[in-house]
Amino acid sequence: MPKKLDETHNDMLAGLKLGSTIAARQLKYSMLLALGLGLMIVVLRGYHDYQWLAEIYHQSNQRVTSSNVPVAVQSLLRRDRELADVMARGMMNQRSIQRVTLLNAEDGIFFDRERPAGEIPTSLWGDRMYGGIQTVIVPVRDPEQRPAATVGEMVVVYNPQVFTSAFMSRLSWSFLTTMVLAVVMAFMFAALSYYILSRPLVKLANYLVRSDPSDDTRPLEMPPYHRYDDEIQLLGSVTVGLFGVIRRQIGQLRKARDELMDANVNLEARVAERTDELKEAMQKLEVQASTDSLTSLPNRRSYLARFEEAVSTWRRRDTPVSIILLDIDRFKSINDTYGHQAGDAVLVELSRIMRATVREIDLPARMGGEEFAVLLPGEEISGALKLAERLRVAFENASVSFGGNVVSFTASFGVAGLPSSQSLKLFDADIRGYIESLKDWENSDISSVMYSLADRALYEAKENGRNRCKQCDFRQIPDYSDA
Ligand code: GH3
Ligand code: MG
Ligand code: MG
Repeated sequence: MPKKLDETHNDMLAGLKLGSTIAARQLKYSMLLALGLGLMIVVLRGYHDYQWLAEIYHQSNQRVTSSNVPVAVQSLLRRDRELADVMARGMMNQRSIQRVTLLNAEDGIFFDRERPAGEIPTSLWGDRMYGGIQTVIVPVRDPEQRPAATVGEMVVVYNPQVFTSAFMSRLSWSFLTTMVLAVVMAFMFAALSYYILSRPLVKLANYLVRSDPSDDTRPLEMPPYHRYDDEIQLLGSVTVGLFGVIRRQIGQLRKARDELMDANVNLEARVAERTDELKEAMQKLEVQASTDSLTSLPNRRSYLARFEEAVSTWRRRDTPVSIILLDIDRFKSINDTYGHQAGDAVLVELSRIMRATVREIDLPARMGGEEFAVLLPGEEISGALKLAERLRVAFENASVSFGGNVVSFTASFGVAGLPSSQSLKLFDADIRGYIESLKDWENSDISSVMYSLADRALYEAKENGRNRCKQCDFRQIPDYSDA
């Protein structure tokens, strides 16, 4: 089953790990940026400090050395080692001065003082920066004599250790503070962007997930409260606007769909109604087309169709079939004497008697005018003759009262039939030949020849005095094989 839309979104929201948020990216990049900038500041400041300390180092060495030359003259001239010692101690207050030595012509080394080892802490780069440990020899001249005479030399050893460690500690402090500041600032930026961007965006996303513009049973929810009139608020209000549009469109679509469905239902009902009407009308038409309107008997068309079917059954299954043709005697004179309506009443009464007399499976029919017929499926010609005789007697005994008159009537009958092979044996040999020859014919040809045989028998019955039955003469079957 596919996941629902809001489930998918909830999964996505749950999957939002800290590392994938805007704030996390903000933290990463601002950390890199702040560290880079911090390093640049540390390097620039370090370079400045280096220059500044170098200047102080050189200037103070020079100043201390040159300002003590007059004292060195006095101590050399007076051979005063105590004075030299006071001078050397004073000079060594400058912590970059390592050793002071006084030389003269007589003694060689007149005075020598060196700073005890360990008094100045050594540092890693100590003797390589600021030119390393330097030895400076300054000539000591007596300014009282003209021209000034050299009384000795002052040898001073400069050691930059103090300045180097000062520089290194400044550098480390500036590095440490800058980096800490950079990291703190990066975190502050990240927190800011979390509060300004990430959090309101996630709230907005949650709101989008919850809102279902297609559900018009609930009012549209407003976007989450946002304090500032900024892009995020804009996004929220644009979304609500869009939801409104979507809801309207869905509403219109639903309405259109419902209308369409209603129209469809109506249409289907109407089509069904019309179909029923049509079926009924067709059934009526079919009955009308196959029924005689005056007597409600089947008409010639349906009679002949059924006869042809019975002929086919005779050929295939050896089932006999017979037909009776009958015509009312002197019907014209009934019409003439009692009127056309009385004639119609006779036709209706005769039909009633026919229906009452024949078997269930027999088919009485009106062939036209005052001519009727009965189809007797499964009946041999002898049986048909018996039925014809029964009908004849029934007609003879019947009468119709019309307009105060009692109208009686008779009819003449012609009978024909297709016998089963069993009863065919009872016929003369030549007649058997005629009947058997029919089996090679088309069904429609057989039925029409039988019909005309019955018609000729009826004609003979009329000729012989009417109100009688006559069997057909099979010898009248034309010989098709000659043709
Ligand atoms: P025959 O004994 O030789 O058959 O004499 P007939 O008078 O019956 O024969 P004919 O063919 O001369 O006359 C048939 C008459 O039947 C003519 C016609 O007016 C009448 N007829 C045909 N159809 C109807 C009908 O539906 N109603 C009425 N009342 N008369 C009809
Ligand atoms: Mg007739
Ligand atoms: Mg007639």
